[in-house]
Amino acid sequence: MTYILDTEVKFLPGVGPKRAELLQKELNICTFGDMLRHFPFRYVDKTRIYTIREMNEDLPYVVLKGKIVGFREVNAAQKRLVAVFADSTGSIDLVWFKGISFIQKNLHAGGVYTIFGKPTSFNGRLNIVHPELEDMVKEEGKITSSIQAVYGSTERLKDMGLGTRAIGRLQSALLGMALPRIEETLPPYIVEANRFISLREALLNIHFPQSPELLRKAQDRLKFEELFYVELSILRTRTKRIKANNGFCFSQVGEFFNHFFYHNLPFELTGAQKRVIKEIRADTGSGRQMNRLLQGDVGSGKTMVALMCMLIAADNGFQSCIMAPTEILATQHFKSMSEMLHDMNVSVALLSGSTKKAERRTLLEKLVQGEINILVGTHALIEDAVRFRQLGLVVIDEQHRFGVAQRGRLWEKSDHPPHILVMTATPIPRTLAMTLYGDLDVSVIDELPPGRKPIKTVHFFDSKRDRVFGFMREQIAAGRQVYVVYPLIWESEKMDYKNLQDGWEIITQAFPAPRYRVCMVHGQLKNDEKEAAMQEFVRGDAHIMVATSVIEVGVNVPNASVMVIESTERFGLAQLHQLRGRVGRGAEQSFCILMSGVKLSSYSRRRIEMMCSTNDGFQIAEADLKLRGPGDLEGTLQSGMAFDLRIANLGTDGKILEYARKCAEQVLNDDPLLSDSKNALLLKTLGKLRDSTKDYSVIS
Ligand code: ADP
Ligand code: MG
Repeated sequence: MTYILDTEVKFLPGVGPKRAELLQKELNICTFGDMLRHFPFRYVDKTRIYTIREMNEDLPYVVLKGKIVGFREVNAAQKRLVAVFADSTGSIDLVWFKGISFIQKNLHAGGVYTIFGKPTSFNGRLNIVHPELEDMVKEEGKITSSIQAVYGSTERLKDMGLGTRAIGRLQSALLGMALPRIEETLPPYIVEANRFISLREALLNIHFPQSPELLRKAQDRLKFEELFYVELSILRTRTKRIKANNGFCFSQVGEFFNHFFYHNLPFELTGAQKRVIKEIRADTGSGRQMNRLLQGDVGSGKTMVALMCMLIAADNGFQSCIMAPTEILATQHFKSMSEMLHDMNVSVALLSGSTKKAERRTLLEKLVQGEINILVGTHALIEDAVRFRQLGLVVIDEQHRFGVAQRGRLWEKSDHPPHILVMTATPIPRTLAMTLYGDLDVSVIDELPPGRKPIKTVHFFDSKRDRVFGFMREQIAAGRQVYVVYPLIWESEKMDYKNLQDGWEIITQAFPAPRYRVCMVHGQLKNDEKEAAMQEFVRGDAHIMVATSVIEVGVNVPNASVMVIESTERFGLAQLHQLRGRVGRGAEQSFCILMSGVKLSSYSRRRIEMMCSTNDGFQIAEADLKLRGPGDLEGTLQSGMAFDLRIANLGTDGKILEYARKCAEQVLNDDPLLSDSKNALLLKTLGKLRDSTKDYSVIS
């Protein structure tokens, strides 16, 4: 017999095949169990009764108690019913567009009602659309709570009658029929040691909190459980990987590495770079497959570490590749590496979306013959046609820009798993990194190359633009170059372009030719146009580069010393830090100027203050995590996450994460194979987790 929570959701009364299909499409809910794990994202305390005078449209869902004083004339063609609802402090409109006859039958002028809804403003008057009426229909045995759960839904689900309240009713019905048959998912010894409430109690109280205290207990248990299983799964994969001992062994450091190190290295490596190269060297020489995350702030010199490791791979007869998120960055890597290796017998090639067909064909042929040692590229590298003879090391630059699936396809290119080095300038705590990206070791470059002066960051309102322009002129007169960056507006490509166009007009008027030369780069340019503009700036022929955030990652122009960011409030913290990292790469004092309008939300103001007060990427990443939560970290992390989290929030539940990891470690220390009967339940639950999540922990 199917376990009750594995029952398909279409069998839940009130759902049926059509809604079930939509639930799956929109919220990935397929079974009763998925439904119960569609947790509320917020709660409304219905024990607090508001007065109408207190109403404003910023309020969330509220409870009001009052009298229907009458119905308003409504044009029948409009199909709208409006009731005027009053308490001793004022009145408000209640509006229905649907179910009008039912409401008319059940609502009476003069009747006293408790209603529940969200105040909104329409034509200057406050109203509540489709309020919920308390006590209008009493359902026998219905599970209720005075702390009302609010569920995430989508427009399409709402159109099918599945808004937050309907989902609440489904949860109530589901719990009513399934609760006694729900099986515990944590072994008793863990439940007892932590004094957790049972899974049944937790599920009941997460949807229908019987008290604030029980709600907290439900959250504690469910968050712990979620993170505990994620950690347990990661740690098991890790143990297996280490045990398997099936990595390529880079046993020697040979002529390529040594020649480069003694003759071609353009600068002394920092202590941190040396340490990280040693760590990687030890890993790749151990016989185990390396899975390493390299964190290092913008400008800390990660590329050099990657290059030197690729030389070790070549010394051992292996090919390697490095994948960058943009064409500009890939091209820059290719050029700088080719230059640094110019007198060496190492073959470096570039593959991107704009590689010409014929060229591409010869390149792929050489690659499979093993005639190319180092392949640099964009996500063009993951295409099936790209085959290596002996791929030993995969480097992923700015790894947060890639999804887990994209990364995974790279390591499938070798029968034997290659060593993996993923690099990021978004520093995050180790446990968090492991949870986000799977089973990884972490190396950190915590030292910038010597001689860098800390970048000075200041905030200016748009009204002070003249002063900023004056400063730009001074810097240009002193021989420096300037970036002016405009936000990308994802909703509308045209808007984005207009933004930049306006910026271009303003800048070229304030900095007229022939005295000043300005170039422009944005996402809609053809690759060769983009490249030409970039090169103009790299060569120092243009004084100012006007750009969208396409220049965010990786571009390196040491002579550029001023970064002006327009509409700063539109950028996230991590992105601002990345942008700022484009300057401060030479020996000169660099500046980052954050422009904004005067009207700033407190969130924008905090971000700007943070940027002005520190250059430390770790501090900024941490603040970013707290301010936004990791779901939104860098905007792309969700697709990059190895696990879907339904209730825990990695931004705010760091403590629970650490604790869950400790518990998982302890369990595996005591019983590495989980063969003890007291852990049978863990094994079973892990098996289910495997089935339902993408198992990328192995590969990233
Ligand atoms: P990121 O870590 O942000 O990718 P890069 O690898 O692009 O940083 O390095 C930034 C700049 O610093 C490059 O111009 C690089 O050549 C230079 N660089 C790297 N390591 C050193 C070093 N040890 N000493 C001086 N300059 C260095
Ligand atoms: Mg880089």
